This record gives sequence, structure tokens and C-alpha cells, in this order.
Amino acid sequence: KRSEKESLYLVNEFANRYFQDQLWKSEEGKNIGLSYFKERGFTEETIKKFQLGYSPNEYEAFTKAAQKEQYSLEFLVKSGVTKESNGRTTDRFRGRVMFPILSHTGRVLGFGGRTLMKDAKIAKYLNSPESEIYHKSKTLYGIFQAKNELSKQDNCLLVEGYTDVISLNQAGVKNVVASSGTSLTKDQIVLIKRYTKNVTILYDGDSAGIKASLRGIDMILEEGLNVQVLLFPDGEDPDSFAKKVSSTELTDYIKEEKQDFLRFKAALLLKEAGSNPLEKSKAARDIVESIAVIPDALQRNAYIQECAHVLQMQERILFTELAQVMKNVA
Ligand code: ATP
Ligand code: MN
Ligand code: MN
Ligand code: MN
Repeated sequence: KRSEKESLYLVNEFANRYFQDQLWKSEEGKNIGLSYFKERGFTEETIKKFQLGYSPNEYEAFTKAAQKEQYSLEFLVKSGVTKESNGRTTDRFRGRVMFPILSHTGRVLGFGGRTLMKDAKIAKYLNSPESEIYHKSKTLYGIFQAKNELSKQDNCLLVEGYTDVISLNQAGVKNVVASSGTSLTKDQIVLIKRYTKNVTILYDGDSAGIKASLRGIDMILEEGLNVQVLLFPDGEDPDSFAKKVSSTELTDYIKEEKQDFLRFKAALLLKEAGSNPLEKSKAARDIVESIAVIPDALQRNAYIQECAHVLQMQERILFTELAQVMKNVA
């Protein structure tokens, strides 16, 4: 007998084919889904590379089609592509453009579906629920398409969303994965670590993006990886920015604007502190706390020296502070 996990994979793989067939072959899919992707500037090649699809705006079109092909309702519901409520089963994704979430080996773990409505009451993205094969916190969107590039370029660009991964790819920047809206987890970082020890955070240029970057920095440092940060102009995300500039301008921007985490934090915190000495010492402590989580002692020392330079403070004082912070944590 087939394992339960294998059955879930088979259901998801059927759904992935179904959503792509709908996008490319049905009138509704072509008129609504495909034109949506094209309006966003995605080429056919890109749409195929990411296996994008469309779920028809009907109550049970998908579920019926799957049952006709002998997929059992039990596994349709367990994988989450069919939803059960009040004893009734319906398609979970209806009238949405579909982004399959693939494992590093290319198996379909689940889906993200984006609504095409502008109504703010509807969740913009809907995801497959957690299942035996889909654990949101262990997944990185785009890992299958990016993994070879992560090793080759020895750097992983980390973005927030599906469309950021896709637009950067189309612009020729291929070493990119998304944490997909959740705050970055240890498992996601461990997955990146298989391919490279260098991470560049490219979160959205809004206050939520900056906050998420700060949390991400410490998580990444704790795993012994190097982390840099690239901020986009306010209101832009990598997708919208990539559409505004040429692909050369994009690669130049990434190369020139990315900062080591220390300089990023220092610039951000010092701007907030202004000339207030108390605030400046708080900023120093905040940076030292990030340095304290770095597992490698030599790297910690190098960063303290850098920190002294950037903050115009004495190394000796920062080393004392570091010892204090590390003692408190231990
Ligand atoms: P788009 O460009 O299509 O508007 P985006 O990726 O820029 O999408 P954001 O609002 O920046 O959208 O969100 C970043 C990511 O967070 C999304 O790609 C998605 O993975 C996740 N996300 C956003 N909104 C939701 C939601 N309501 N439910 C679940 N996940 C969400
Ligand atoms: Mn955002
Ligand atoms: Mn965004
Ligand atoms: Mn966006």
C-alpha cells in the first residue's frame, strides 16, 4: 500500500497539472489568469518555469475533476486542495492565480493562490493548510528553481513574496527564495545553509519589511551565516522595483546598495537616535546584542572592531559590553 505522504504528493501533482491546464487551455483561465500574469509582465517562459496556474471560479470544478480521475476525497481534503466545511466539500482555491510551492527536489508541497479582486476584505493570498507534506515554516518558495544558483553564486537572496522571486528571476537574478510572509524560521535558514553561507535580505521597503529584516538578521547570524541587507525605496518591493528599472540597473542596485548587517543596523539606529547620547548608547547595545549571537569568536571580535569604528566608540568599552551580554545569555 502506498504511503499516506505519497498519496498527498500525487494529489498535489494532479492539482498542479490541473491548474496549469486551466491557465493555458480554458477560456476563463486564458482570459483572466493568463492575462493577469501578462499584465504583471511575466513572460510565457517565466510562467512555465514557475508552473503558474489558475483555479476556476466555481465551487467544485477541481474536486469533481480529481474524483473522476480516481483521487479519493480523503486525500483531496488532507492535502487541502479540497476544503471540508459543514459536511460539504468544495474547492479551496477559486478564481485565483496559482503558485505551486515546490520542495528542493521539485515535488509539490502545496499552493499559494492570489485573488484577482481588489476587495480589501478578501485575503490577498490563500495558502494550502499545513499537512503531512507541507510545513510552512520549513519551506522556501523558489528553492527548486534557485538551488543550483545558490551554490554557484555562493549567495542567497531572501525576499518576502512569490512575485518577488519570479520577477527577479525574469530579470536574470536567479539565486533568490522567499520566506512567503512568515517571519523567517531556523528551519528555513538551515535549508539555505546546505547551499551557501551568505544571505542577503531583500525585504519590502516599508516599516514591516525593516522590522522583519532586523529579526531575520539575528536568526541568520545565530546559524553562523553571513548576512547582508538591501533596502528598497519606500513602497517598493523587489518585484515592483525590478519592473521599473532595466536588468543592468537592478543588478547594479543590488551590488551597490547591499550593506553588511552591522552598517545597516548602525545607520538605521543612529538615524533614530539623532544626537541623543542615551539613545546612541542603546543603539550600541542593540548592535552588540546581534554580534553576541555569532557563534564564531574571531568573527565576533572583527565585528566589535568594525562597530567601534562605525559608532566612533572605544573598542575596549564594546568588548566589555559584549562580555556582559554573553554572560547574561549564558
Ligand atoms: P503582490 O505583488 O501580488 O501584491 P506581494 O508578494 O508583494 O504580492 P505582500 O503583501 O508583500 O505581497 O506579501 C508578501 C508575501 O506574504 C506574499 O507573497 C505571500 O506569500 C504572503 N502573504 C501576503 N498576504 C497574505 C495573506 N493574506 N495570507 C497568507 N499569506 C500572505
Ligand atoms: Mn509588504
Ligand atoms: Mn510585497
Ligand atoms: Mn508585490
